[in-house]
Amino acid sequence: MNNSPMSDLVPLRQWGLRIENFFLCAGPCSAESPQQLLAAAKGLQGCPLTFFRAGIWKPRTRPGTFEGHGVEALSWLRRVRDETGFAVGVEVADPAHVQACLEHKIDVLWIGARTTTNPFAVQALAESLRSAALPVLVKNPVSPDLGLWIGALERLYNAGLRKLAVIHRGFAVAETEQYRNPPLWRIPIELKRRLPAVPVICDPSHMSGRADMIFPVSQEALDLLYDGLMVEVHANPTQALSDAQQQLTPEQFRSMLGRLRVRTELSPDQQYQTRMEQLRRQIDEVDEKIIDLLRKRMDIVQAMAECKRRTEVSTLQPERWREVMATRVAQGTRKGLSPEFLAALYEVIHEEAIRWQERPLFNDQ
Ligand code: PEP
Ligand code: MN
Repeated sequence: MNNSPMSDLVPLRQWGLRIENFFLCAGPCSAESPQQLLAAAKGLQGCPLTFFRAGIWKPRTRPGTFEGHGVEALSWLRRVRDETGFAVGVEVADPAHVQACLEHKIDVLWIGARTTTNPFAVQALAESLRSAALPVLVKNPVSPDLGLWIGALERLYNAGLRKLAVIHRGFAVAETEQYRNPPLWRIPIELKRRLPAVPVICDPSHMSGRADMIFPVSQEALDLLYDGLMVEVHANPTQALSDAQQQLTPEQFRSMLGRLRVRTELSPDQQYQTRMEQLRRQIDEVDEKIIDLLRKRMDIVQAMAECKRRTEVSTLQPERWREVMATRVAQGTRKGLSPEFLAALYEVIHEEAIRWQERPLFNDQ
């Protein structure tokens, strides 16, 4: 008996939808017209799609842009299903959307990033979906808040839904590097650790925001053992009414499918196993040294704290901290480590050092 949370979810392969190598969703950002939808779907014919996607209620950041065709487009999607055999799915944001989708027998629903952010909206969706048999996918909230993401899943789970999965589409954060919404992979990895029964799908389109990054981001997701992908595909991306920069043509999508490699967590290969065991032992030794050094560093920090306190000197030493950060980033960069990694690492170390220095105050209460 598995006691981990949500362990009674229906496994992906028992959802009654097509899954070949992995869960695969593709289709345009938005349903723009019956012809546009059919052109994308026909272009995808022959691909092993789990479902064909299209947004019909579009949550746009600013008003006055294309906000989707609404209920009218549900019948266009049914036509796609009739003509191609693909299951179809849309984003829902309120109970009226759910009602319309259930009436039109839409196969899969997903909750968008902006909606997951709002517990009232998710609760209302959960009530309107109570015990529904169809699968519901939950995109991560816009902000990097794992609690909100898990909370949304719990609301749906508590409403009796058992075909649940998450879609990781990246987070709106200040440092974007080359991404539209940086992945912050550690967050879905932590979700997987806490809720191993919940399948994780990657949406490389909203993550990268650029068509040329869809392949590497998708491969990275498969390398991280994701259960599948949701990719925006449009017959004529440059003419798309939303997300024109990030949509692939059906041909580009097919070519990507041909290049993607599915990884497995383990291998029976003896040579691989022996070599990995050796390397893992080396990693264990290095980690032990890192931990010993960190402990040693904290002992010095503690001695400094006493010195500072006796002399009525502040814990934070901005000048020294600037120097530590600059020199460590420079040293590490010379040795081939990335400046971003070094800066993030030293921020954590410094924050912990401050905590050690301030700890006596909290203990003296
Ligand atoms: C979408 O899938 O088109 C969409 C609006 O995505 P997100 O909710 O991830 O922004
Ligand atoms: Mn989109």
